[in-house]
Amino acid sequence: MSQDTVTPPASNFIRNIVEADNASGKWGGRIETRFPPEPNGYLHFGHAKSILLNFGLARDYGGVCHMRFDDTNPTREEQEYVDAILEDVRWLGCDWGEQLNYTSDYFDRLCAYAETLIEGGHAYVDSQNAEAMRATRGTLTEPGRDSPYRNRSIEDNLDLFRRMRAGEFPDGTHILRAKIDMASPNMNLRDPAIYRIRHAHHHRTGDAWCIYPMYDYAHCVSDALENITHSLCTLEFESHRPLYEWFLERLADAGHFSRPLPQQIEFSRLNLSYTVLSKRKLIQLVQEGHVDGWDDPRMPTLKGARRRGFTPQGFKLFLDRIGISKSDSLIDMVVLEDCMREDLNARAERRIAVLDPLRLVLVNVPEDHVEECFAPNHPQKPELGKRMVPLTRELWIEREDFMETPSKGYFRLRPDGEVRLRYGFIIKCTGFDKDEAGKVSCVYAEVDMDTKSGTPGSESRKVKGNIHWLSAAHAVEAEVRMVDRLFSVPAPGSRREGDAPELERDFLDDINPHSKSSTRAMLEPSLGSAAPESTYQFERHGYFVADRKDHKPGHAVYNRTVTLRDSWAK
Ligand code: ATP
Ligand code: MG
Repeated sequence: MSQDTVTPPASNFIRNIVEADNASGKWGGRIETRFPPEPNGYLHFGHAKSILLNFGLARDYGGVCHMRFDDTNPTREEQEYVDAILEDVRWLGCDWGEQLNYTSDYFDRLCAYAETLIEGGHAYVDSQNAEAMRATRGTLTEPGRDSPYRNRSIEDNLDLFRRMRAGEFPDGTHILRAKIDMASPNMNLRDPAIYRIRHAHHHRTGDAWCIYPMYDYAHCVSDALENITHSLCTLEFESHRPLYEWFLERLADAGHFSRPLPQQIEFSRLNLSYTVLSKRKLIQLVQEGHVDGWDDPRMPTLKGARRRGFTPQGFKLFLDRIGISKSDSLIDMVVLEDCMREDLNARAERRIAVLDPLRLVLVNVPEDHVEECFAPNHPQKPELGKRMVPLTRELWIEREDFMETPSKGYFRLRPDGEVRLRYGFIIKCTGFDKDEAGKVSCVYAEVDMDTKSGTPGSESRKVKGNIHWLSAAHAVEAEVRMVDRLFSVPAPGSRREGDAPELERDFLDDINPHSKSSTRAMLEPSLGSAAPESTYQFERHGYFVADRKDHKPGHAVYNRTVTLRDSWAK
């Protein structure tokens, strides 16, 4: 199992391109990539794919990956998102070195290069209103029509563009467009917008600008300014690549950039079952209160993953396993959960937790006796040592580890039956009490003193059942949150077989009502004082993490990260 963790990532078509470039000397052995989020939301699992791909390539080929905020839309962006994104990328173990950049740092140059395009006859100011622009754009089957302003003189275009920049015109009255081809079968080449007027405050440049560059223009120019070699993006940008190249070729011809120019390469985005990764839907989940914020442990955000106890190493393993390709696919959530299990299995120390406590009294153990038992911290790693777990007269065991009338094949505690207290002794049940409601409230048992685990001959007598326990005098109480998948179906909101044709489903109706519950549990004492974000395997239960936000001295709070085995398999 742990061997997979050290296997180098499988080759993929992007690595092949990088290696071919290195072999041909195209970039002189240099590799620079970038991760370019828009600071308008929190990062999700899909972004992790892009982050680990970009930073991973740079690391593996001795290059640099730039962190770049694509902050060209003044009305939707905030510093809060910038800070959160940086924290998440760092959490994933990625390092951008000196290369923390903002597209807004390039506004001056973007504007100057737009003038270059105008001067070369490659851009014009259009003064049609939005409706007229839409109407003349054409469709997939029909060509668009030229704007009546398309043949303005270079002088007029320059003058108008400068006046746009100077704030002389209200929003929407003029727009700078690339002069390409209104009849192009690729809609992205039908004279796309370069600059629009937006009298809006920007979170970094304040009120310095009232025109803002469009994504397609700003993105390729930023790549070229940062000397990016391989500009990786998701497949929906494939049809934008000719435009990316069109801008850069013209600016290179004008002497602003030297060749080779950055190469855009597309890969398929991450789609994951039992969740949603669209920004719009994630915002809706938070704003309408379906979850407890962006960092709810059920959210597919990196903030949520961190509180859930998912690990950066687990994400890395996951992305190595699913690979990088150009074909769209839906990855089963169990693959991600398995990677987290695998990583945690290797690293998390074992501890004992009783999640649904039932009192067990050992009738032949004196009141104040403390018997020292020893449990390994990690069964596959003896070097991590053992810890002492005290055994006393009164213990907590799991309620489900006792059955008054055992079903067939039940080998745990039952009237007159025997089990081994893990790391302790064999005990024999001698009786039990019930409360007024008829619920078992206490179980009594006798210890066979000759069977202590770890002492010579102790294992000679075998019993089938083996249960975990905690000394009631030593255990600490805790809140344990049983986190599970946020949605109960693989494709939330999608139609299902047998749905009436007029039925429309809403992804919110597919929220798993059992995705969150909380229980008062008993834990080994050391778990009470563990640092937030410490992860453990609770024996027989799964992997748990001390909650990053709510776990405090005197108030232990743990989240379940994953169960020990896939509990969703049919
Ligand atoms: P928006 O609609 O706001 O542009 P976005 O999901 O594209 O949303 P960005 O902040 O622009 O968000 O994304 C930053 C980078 O992350 C982009 O390069 C984008 O391609 C990549 N990315 C986003 N979602 C996924 C995904 N599901 N799988 C892989 N990469 C993704
Ligand atoms: Mg985007």
